[in-house]
Amino acid sequence: MTAAPVISVRGLRKAYGATEAVRGVDLDVRPGEIFGLLGPNGAGKTTTVEILEGYRGRSAGEVRVLGHDPADGDPAFRDRIGIVLQSTGVERHLTAAEAVALYAGYYARPRPAAELLELVGLGGSADVRVGRLSGGQRRRLDLAIALAGSPEIVFLDEPTTGFDPSARRDAWGLIRRLADDGTTVLLTTHFMDEAQVLADRLAVIVDGRIVAEGTPAEVVARVPAPTTIAFRLPDGAVPPADLSVDADPERPGRFLARTEEPTPLLHRITTWAVGAGLALDELSVTRPTLEETYLSLTGHAPEAEAAPDPGIGRRRRGRR
Ligand code: ATP
Repeated sequence: MTAAPVISVRGLRKAYGATEAVRGVDLDVRPGEIFGLLGPNGAGKTTTVEILEGYRGRSAGEVRVLGHDPADGDPAFRDRIGIVLQSTGVERHLTAAEAVALYAGYYARPRPAAELLELVGLGGSADVRVGRLSGGQRRRLDLAIALAGSPEIVFLDEPTTGFDPSARRDAWGLIRRLADDGTTVLLTTHFMDEAQVLADRLAVIVDGRIVAEGTPAEVVARVPAPTTIAFRLPDGAVPPADLSVDADPERPGRFLARTEEPTPLLHRITTWAVGAGLALDELSVTRPTLEETYLSLTGHAPEAEAAPDPGIGRRRRGRR
């Protein structure tokens, strides 16, 4: 893990008039890793990512992406990155193969359309018009287009919003394969399970600042949050008060203890139960999840999955 970063950001700031959207972000992304950027609406994720892509200027700070300053607008830089936005604006009358070939034509190192469609699982839909693809297929087409120039870095903006569970799994597999093949992936997402499964490392951004960074496990471990010990007792049995175990208000007969030091408490609970000749049915010890950590870092619940909305090109930007 000593390879030089492909994305390096120091002291990044961006103000829109009086609104300070990004307030001093430092970031390193290493080659071939999947880096997740998490945060509530308005935290500054899109602003940060668009500065890295070269689509937005910055107010202050140093930014290097593949050795370039994205603000220079160097076409050689644009050729080395791929971008997938939240929704597609691809011409509806083209077939999937024609759409991919059209975009591939902009690049110095185009990949064949058939290969790209195969890669994203659209091999059987090459001759289907874009307007007839399902929402999930359109998102995959967007990914094929983003990969058309054999990019070294792919920027994915909420890549699975609107996907059904099996399509999400497929997308995760595809993103993982890209990274395994050496492509660096910068991903924004509102889904904690997605970040937990996919991200090698992640940063949580709140009000324009990074509040936690590391592997998902490191981020969870850095924020003190209680582990939950749960078990069920036979009718009428109650743990002694000094164990600080509470009855589960929602499930009679079940008990819960929340502690930041689970080992000694578990020892005391099991010692008591064995001494009393009781079995702790359904005994479980649950570590804090990334979702709970995110909640305590941001004060926000992760957004619920949005309804599919493939028709609106929210932030589709042309190449320039
Ligand atoms: P989301 O999860 O909703 O996509 P985000 O984390 O990507 O949010 P940004 O879109 O970067 O957040 O917005 C950060 C802040 O900057 C917000 O307060 C937003 O209103 C503001 N902002 C973003 N773009 C502009 C703009 N073009 N002009 C003025 N203010 C902007």
